[in-house]
Amino acid sequence: MTPHDDFLLLILSSPSGAGKTTLTRMLLEECPELRFSVSHTTRAPRSNEVDGRDYHFVDRARFDALVEARAFLEWAEVHGNRYGTSTAEIDRARAVPGCTGMIFDIDYQGARQIGSKVNDVVSVFILPPSMPELERRLRGRASETEETLSRRYAVAEREIEHYALFHYVIVNDDVKRAFDELRSITVAERARRQRRAPLAEALLRAGRLS
Ligand code: ADP
Ligand code: 5GP
Repeated sequence: MTPHDDFLLLILSSPSGAGKTTLTRMLLEECPELRFSVSHTTRAPRSNEVDGRDYHFVDRARFDALVEARAFLEWAEVHGNRYGTSTAEIDRARAVPGCTGMIFDIDYQGARQIGSKVNDVVSVFILPPSMPELERRLRGRASETEETLSRRYAVAEREIEHYALFHYVIVNDDVKRAFDELRSITVAERARRQRRAPLAEALLRAGRLS
């Protein structure tokens, strides 16, 4: 991707149940100019999920064909299923008038892959206030079987081990306070020099022409 790009690429990552879906929804409501990156997954849809809105739900053969066709900017195996971000998803968002950035809800493996390919991506890791609270939230969501729940809980530690890959860490104890931090990060990142460079350069060009 080009340097001096004013398009914001914001990665949110966390162990399952720490609250990234909740915080992502709040940020999308507050910032309608940001788009959610809809990933592909081989996981089965949950009862409240809609194909094309929450994920593009595909079978393993289709997913592997997309990998083969190099359709993904990143992809990874998470909790026994495959998940990936297609480059087409980002190209589509860039083409939408008024859209100024994207939010990616992806795991640390995906964050690492995007970070190695794209210069000025912003990454945020969300921590639960404690492990018992993480388990309570996973159970409270009631979308998992006992087996998938304990798998998600077991890999939480491995995910937390990778917190140092991220630029920012938010502790989601009180959701309003956590959201305040996420909003502040978004506002500050928008004001970064390189994201304002296209405007500054255009002003300079206009000045030279007049
Ligand atoms: P993730 O997307 O990281 O798996 P979710 O956003 O689905 O997590 O949150 C998991 C559960 O915890 C949901 O039921 C959500 O309503 C709840 N939750 C999220 N943030 C908080 C918080 N700060 N305090 C209490 N419950 C929360
Ligand atoms: P869930 O099944 O709870 O929706 O997501 C499980 C995990 O997969 C979460 O950590 C989520 O961030 C991650 N995930 C979702 N989409 C992608 C993706 O496109 N790429 C990667 N690497 N991880 C993803």
